[in-house]
Amino acid sequence: MKDTLRVDSQSDLPNEESEPPSEEKEPPGKCSTVPRLAEYDRILRSPSEVPANSSPPQRNVFPRSIESRHRMVVSDRSKSFRDRFFPGASDADWCDWHWQLRNRIQNASVLARMVRLSEDEVNAIQRHSGNLPLAITPYYASLLDPDDPLQPIRRAVVPVCAEYNRCEAEADDPLDEDRDSPVPGIVHRYPDRVLFLVTDYCSTYCRYCTRSRMVGDRSTRRFDVRQWERGIEYIENTPAIRDVLLSGGDPLTLSNDRLEWLLSRLRRIPHVEFIRIGTKAPVVLPQRINHGLTRMLKRYHPLWMSIHFTHPDELTPEVAQACANLADAGIPLGSQTVLLSGINDRVETMKRLVHGLLKIRVKPYYLYQCDPIPGSSHFRTSVEKGIGIIQGLRGHTTGYAVPNYVIDAPGGGGKIPLLPEYVVGRDGDDLLLRNYQGGIYRYPDPAGKS
Ligand code: SF4
Repeated sequence: MKDTLRVDSQSDLPNEESEPPSEEKEPPGKCSTVPRLAEYDRILRSPSEVPANSSPPQRNVFPRSIESRHRMVVSDRSKSFRDRFFPGASDADWCDWHWQLRNRIQNASVLARMVRLSEDEVNAIQRHSGNLPLAITPYYASLLDPDDPLQPIRRAVVPVCAEYNRCEAEADDPLDEDRDSPVPGIVHRYPDRVLFLVTDYCSTYCRYCTRSRMVGDRSTRRFDVRQWERGIEYIENTPAIRDVLLSGGDPLTLSNDRLEWLLSRLRRIPHVEFIRIGTKAPVVLPQRINHGLTRMLKRYHPLWMSIHFTHPDELTPEVAQACANLADAGIPLGSQTVLLSGINDRVETMKRLVHGLLKIRVKPYYLYQCDPIPGSSHFRTSVEKGIGIIQGLRGHTTGYAVPNYVIDAPGGGGKIPLLPEYVVGRDGDDLLLRNYQGGIYRYPDPAGKS
């Protein structure tokens, strides 16, 4: 292991972020180690790894324990990690999302006990101040490779010094969200829908976060009930808004009471037809998706959820159960994934991710070109690579598995879809089309002749 550094200083402790304020305690979900974890592993494996002679399941693919919303899974991997690094914690502690938040890894000295940090990682963590701090839930930390700083999900959450390299095209607010904000917390860009930023807190911070300018800065405390009231008032007074997307930060780090207050206020507005929640909690904090939450969310349908996935390594038994709990509560689930260099920018990796998502009832929805936030050049790929990934999926796998590849246009232009070129021209009355294998086909289209 090269570049290993021992960290024994507490010098980075002042950067730590405290728990979100005013969180009430929820009774922890009943928690048990489910004996049939092999069954989750089987359904989460890629098809190529399933033996050719294995017979299809006769009825439900999910074991009974997943169907029950009262139990939580602790995989063998989580268990051994917990026993090693949190020996005093019980199953009930581990399955309690408040415990996960209280025990987040927020400095180099704690993280160095769990993974062999490279010198680059240590320097980056110790140099950091302000927004987008280091924070990783113990659950997500259990998925990190302790020896490989280049492991995709480790790169997604552990800072490196490349974050401090600024390029000319980068901007704090590359999508110009602040310009389209009529009142604090509301981004009104498209005529019939708004983004409602309800918190700046996340349980785990992604190093490529589009809102790196605002997340994780607990000194400002901008997201209070007064600000929420102003946002709700704006929505009430704007009848064109039929769709509200709650985002942040991660709205599922709010307590059930606070979230329900927001949902119930929005539901009372007659022209709001549709509410969505954007979150990474099912992936980095699956313990949050307990029965109390799903029972509450069910009261506010139609409610949809966009879940931020990054890599197939995130598709664990815990995440499968969290998504099953949400889907069983009638919440349609879509994924949002940022295309990231060296993390998920290969067709094979993306295929494993989208196939795994369909197996846990999540529709791959958006694949985003990485936004040019400050210090993101090491994460950004060429657009050509993204188009190549879509080309490698479309036609080669089920259409449900193919996300929309988009650039959120810098300067506030909104989402612009990017597609491989399938229309290659005309020949008289015929339109010439290329199929997924590169073959050219004709479609009679005399009406389209100019
Ligand atoms: S969970 Fe979302 S809001 Fe939070 S750091 Fe990651 S990308 Fe940003």
